[in-house]
Amino acid sequence: MADFLEFYPLRTHNTFGFDARARLAVHIRNESDLVSALSDHRIDNLPIVVLGGGSNVVLTGDLDACVLLMEIPGYDVAEDDASWLVTAGAGETWHGLVNRTIDEGMPGLENLALIPGTAGAAPIQNIGAYGVELRERFARLRAYDRQSGDFVTIDLDTCAFGYRDSLFKREGRDRYIITAVTLRLPKAWQPVLNYGELTRELEGVSTPDAAQVRDAIVAIRSRKLPDPAKIGNAGSFFKNPVVDASLRNALLADHPALVSYPQPDGSYKLAAGWLIDQCGFKGVDDGPVGVYGKQALVLVHHGGGTGAALLALANRIADAVQAHFGVRIEPEPVIL
Ligand SMILES: Cc1cc2nc3c(=O)[nH]c(=O)nc-3n(C[C@H](O)[C@H](O)[C@H](O)COP(=O)(O)OP(=O)(O)OC[C@H]3O[C@@H](n4cnc5c(N)ncnc54)[C@H](O)[C@@H]3O)c2cc1C
Repeated sequence: MADFLEFYPLRTHNTFGFDARARLAVHIRNESDLVSALSDHRIDNLPIVVLGGGSNVVLTGDLDACVLLMEIPGYDVAEDDASWLVTAGAGETWHGLVNRTIDEGMPGLENLALIPGTAGAAPIQNIGAYGVELRERFARLRAYDRQSGDFVTIDLDTCAFGYRDSLFKREGRDRYIITAVTLRLPKAWQPVLNYGELTRELEGVSTPDAAQVRDAIVAIRSRKLPDPAKIGNAGSFFKNPVVDASLRNALLADHPALVSYPQPDGSYKLAAGWLIDQCGFKGVDDGPVGVYGKQALVLVHHGGGTGAALLALANRIADAVQAHFGVRIEPEPVIL
């Protein structure tokens, strides 16, 4: 029998720190916990919400749902001639996994250091930072398929990873519950240093090893982003909008300082933080919610506010960007 907790407080389960309760919650510490929770008649009429570290969700109110608190541990290494294959339980912390692989001499995840949350959530939005995305280090994952009632293995191609996107944000949403993730870390390692800020941070280090790259990333991120333990936030709140070359060129003609990055398919990614900054929102507070003073892409919660108030602010920002630049910016976190 699953050990359901009633009206469970979620404030410490979301990095915004919003107060919300779950009608039911259950700790999932292994695959049997998952099967027994999902087959329990007490959740028959309730939606299921899967929660890892809660670092990419906005809780807009109490959840009339059963929340699965994903805490499955596990760490295993296999290898072939070319790569290490590292499997982590869904509940392992992502940054802990990055550190452990580097400490054990398996480089490859250093650019993704200090991203909060769990290993099991990393594929959901294909986490990325400083020139590396999860898909470049991903082999496969294991998940419970709620449609078939079986555990399945899902490979790289099937995950259909895109920029902050995957199968699990589209047709696989509400279908798969990830229990383990396997990463492929090539033994022939090359540091990825094509990010201006990172190169500057490593100035004077001629051939940095993975631990040095990791430390540089941790230093940059600690300066730039608010620590969720001190100020509630979910990292970047908006995705960088991708526009075609003609729109980007027209915007550039009107706004010569526009920050944009060419994409392999000829389109351009616009820096959402820059667009928001130009609309005058950086550092603006609206009661207990606001925009971080050092980075306009990050929305913050100072305490005592609600997810609904934060969403209202996010909509005002998106409307202002649309009115000013004719481009719609979309939230990155999952709204619950
Ligand atoms: C300060 C800060 C910095 C950040 N920086 C970055 C960054 O650089 N790059 C980046 O990509 N992201 C970043 N993020 C966002 C976030 O850390 C990642 O998206 C992370 O992968 C979310 O993990 P989580 O365990 O907290 O997921 P949650 O927030 O708990 O869940 C996110 C989504 O995944 C689903 N989910 C979670 N676990 C599972 C599972 N086991 N099976 C199926 N579905 C699941 C949830 O239902 C939800 O839809 C940042 C967040 C913060 C607070």
